Amino acid sequence: MQIIRHPAAMIAWAKEQAKAGRSIALVPTMGFFHEGHLSLMRRAGQLADQVAVSLFVNPTQFGPQEDLSAYPRNFERDRAMAESAGVQALFAPEAADMYPAEFCTTVTVGAELTGQLCGASRPGHFAGVATVVCKLFQIVRPDVAVFGEKDFQQLAVIRRMTADLNLGVEIVAHPTVREADGLALSSRNTYLAPSQREAALSLSRAITLARKMTAEGERSAERLAAALRDFIHSFPETAVDYISFVHQNTLQHAAEIDEQTVLALAVKIGGKVRLIDNGKVL
Ligand code: AMP
Repeated sequence: MQIIRHPAAMIAWAKEQAKAGRSIALVPTMGFFHEGHLSLMRRAGQLADQVAVSLFVNPTQFGPQEDLSAYPRNFERDRAMAESAGVQALFAPEAADMYPAEFCTTVTVGAELTGQLCGASRPGHFAGVATVVCKLFQIVRPDVAVFGEKDFQQLAVIRRMTADLNLGVEIVAHPTVREADGLALSSRNTYLAPSQREAALSLSRAITLARKMTAEGERSAERLAAALRDFIHSFPETAVDYISFVHQNTLQHAAEIDEQTVLALAVKIGGKVRLIDNGKVL
């Protein structure tokens, strides 16, 4: 596996692959790998001849009060894990090389997709995501890129940007990888104190509860959301950021649940750790 630090070197690697007629699958990440990341990398390996993984804790997608400096990092561990997943190129640039001093371009996806859910409590987050993913697509020129359904709104935003800007990258969604008890794997789970681990389960358990209620015939998003809010708040140290039922592609609010509806949740645990999860409920 090659470790590539500079965007120019990554562009050269990608050109070499194209010249040799080899297709590329890209997996963009912020590192601190877990089984969710590895399963994206293995999926990428089935989709193209070469797998490139980017490891970049992108400063522009963090708000001023967010966890940029605290975000977990362990390059050596990540390097070994990516290699074991069969990755050919690990692109780990410095922020100063991705955003030189004169940098002044931003890709913003419309408020239809970025104004609600995580976009409401994280202003500017999706502009940061769209900009860095657009840059990564230009640097790596992948045929296909794999993203986790765990970040459901991000997936919708990237699909829209890729179509709107004719980026020519096939976007593949990969299902959320979970612990045996249902907790969605996340690099941010490392922030949880042992006593908060149970409270973190409130998200996946809420999705299970919603499925039980819809199986019993409930279709009202409002009544479901009210029940889920009470359920989540019955766990210690939880504060709901949002509980939303939205259309899976447009992200528009759904008043009545149907097969296209996704339940998306964000919950703060202990006032600090913000976790997200989502799932279909019918
Ligand atoms: P991150 O490093 O958190 O930015 O995530 C990098 C990629 O991995 C994104 O496409 C995420 O959606 C995906 N991802 C994160 N957690 C999971 C998970 N538990 N299951 C599947 N994919 C995930």
